[in-house]
Amino acid sequence: MKQDIRALSLEELRAFFIAKGDQAFRGNQVYQWLWQKGIHDFERMTNLSIDVRQLLEDNFSINHIAIDTQQKSTDGTIKNAVRLHDELVVESVLIPTTTRTTACVSSQVGCSLDCTFCATSRLKRMRNLNPDEIYDQVMAMDQQSRLYFNKPLSNIVFMGMGEPLMNYNNVVAAIEKITAPSGMGVSAKRITLSTSGVPKMIKKLAEEYPKFKLAVSLHSARQEVRQNIMPFADKFPLEDLLDSLQFWYETTNSRITFEYVVWEGINDTQEDIQALVDYCQKVPSKVNLIQYNSIGEDRFQQAPKAVVELYQKVLEANGIVATIRRSRGSDIDAACGQLANKSQA
Ligand code: SAH
Repeated sequence: MKQDIRALSLEELRAFFIAKGDQAFRGNQVYQWLWQKGIHDFERMTNLSIDVRQLLEDNFSINHIAIDTQQKSTDGTIKNAVRLHDELVVESVLIPTTTRTTACVSSQVGCSLDCTFCATSRLKRMRNLNPDEIYDQVMAMDQQSRLYFNKPLSNIVFMGMGEPLMNYNNVVAAIEKITAPSGMGVSAKRITLSTSGVPKMIKKLAEEYPKFKLAVSLHSARQEVRQNIMPFADKFPLEDLLDSLQFWYETTNSRITFEYVVWEGINDTQEDIQALVDYCQKVPSKVNLIQYNSIGEDRFQQAPKAVVELYQKVLEANGIVATIRRSRGSDIDAACGQLANKSQA
């Protein structure tokens, strides 16, 4: 099998051309085609001679993603089924509002965690995405954003399939390219990593990449409740999570966003609300109360509006910012927790 050219750094590409008796800057030209222009065909690298293009063809492949299908929601949200070079599929979602377009990116095929309310956790096959497979999703959605909404992407959220902190190295390698001037040049402040809460990796991220935004899928601030709906939380208890979040804040000075769904009979009592207030008071944070998107499990039913509003009222009375978020793209199964490659079934 030929080597994937995009696994090479700029330096390695330059060295390749020197080794072939050509000049180093040829490496820069190729790098630009690959990463700034997003070209996935050596034929289209038009400032290279036919011989050079042939040399590349003989030595390398470009394992680019392909967008298999695109679905559009009545609210403008676009869901892409993204086919990888080994025929596995992930999904990515472009979400327009009047002021922004946000790309929701996948980091794994399937997920390494087991949240019981999330459709992605039901998928069997699992592998990590490579840095370039993550980068390609962002690049493809930037092009869609320009095409359909006449503006470049404004924000990137790692809230698609997978747990980004369980694929740390590849996710940060992709973000390095997304933020690099020689890549897409997106500001780190516009990138949010969402995690179910892996304390050790949150600390590592704080130390290495303090500029990103951090979101944590909390859903309950009571250990026994959380563990019941997010079984992996058994290994990563709320106490350790809190410790890592305090470290995050001390290191980055940036507050955390908690994502939180309120379900009937699961986390809808006064005690649940109070536990969340107590938790939020221990670390600078705000709460996004997100709508539950049904994945057809009887156990989970969205709590009535009045309960969600009560959550908001009590949080705000305690000085914690809380926003009630409506769902986007649910008519095409593109909303939070609904990504499950259904169009492939
Ligand atoms: N693994 C990461 C990234 C996924 S983000 C994380 O958990 O943060 C997807 C978000 O949607 C998470 O906040 C997740 O808890 C939430 N979610 C999962 N299933 C959902 C559902 N059925 N309805 C609403 N939100 C859901």
